[in-house]
Amino acid sequence: MSLKALRAVKVTPSLMARFISIPFRRVKNPCIYCPGICLASCPTFLRSGNMALSPLGYSRNPDLGRRECLKCWRCVSECPLGYELPSKFSGEVELELEVVRRGSPMLLSVEGLDLAYGIEIAERLKAGLCVVKGLLRRYDEGCEMSGLSKVKREIKRLGEVISLSPEASHSLKIPFFLEKAYELPVRLNYRGPVHVPCLLLGRSEEVIRGLISIGTSPTEVLKDSCIKLESPKALILCPRASSLSLTCFYDLMEF
Ligand code: SF4
Ligand code: SF4
Repeated sequence: MSLKALRAVKVTPSLMARFISIPFRRVKNPCIYCPGICLASCPTFLRSGNMALSPLGYSRNPDLGRRECLKCWRCVSECPLGYELPSKFSGEVELELEVVRRGSPMLLSVEGLDLAYGIEIAERLKAGLCVVKGLLRRYDEGCEMSGLSKVKREIKRLGEVISLSPEASHSLKIPFFLEKAYELPVRLNYRGPVHVPCLLLGRSEEVIRGLISIGTSPTEVLKDSCIKLESPKALILCPRASSLSLTCFYDLMEF
């Protein structure tokens, strides 16, 4: 089925009218009223063609969503309501911030995701390092976050904070490492295809520009796959790559 056909599926004026009225009512799960405007953005649906493995299926079966949804957040950027479906599958997770060492720039790691990179890069750059705890569960299990405002206030007090992961950049609204790379004494001599993480799609131009500024020559920019489902033959701009036996850009970086 073509993407165009998929986008047209079931979207009728009366369904759209019902959907558009959702913000004016108290609705817990807008997907129950929605014709599936985001379907064509969902990698698990596109691969399987199975409606159960789509945002509509996951919204009706959160247990399945917890297991099978990639928490790539592609559907959220397509949803006219901005409904954060991939954070509705599990309970709340409390975020906490720990400052490991003060310094400038201040790098931010996510516990369980990129702390090993954080320790090494902070050491080499003589930078500060802080760690956010709990955040990975948002992207692994589909949790809502609590304590976000407190963590954001703490981060603000630390000055400029740079995220080492797309996850923390996405949740905490702070720059991703590559968006600030031109200010840092790092090089990445690589020529070849580059994969942009799902969570950074809206900022892919800035990310690619940052990559070029430190010596990389991308021959192709891949944006249509999620590394939790596929293994693109490309440089991966996300620390999750190392746990999936893919090449993470931090592994090739020189200081
Ligand atoms: S996430 Fe938004 S667009 Fe997708 S099914 Fe739910 S309400 Fe519709
Ligand atoms: S987060 Fe990704 S995998 Fe999950 S429903 Fe949305 S688009 Fe599909």
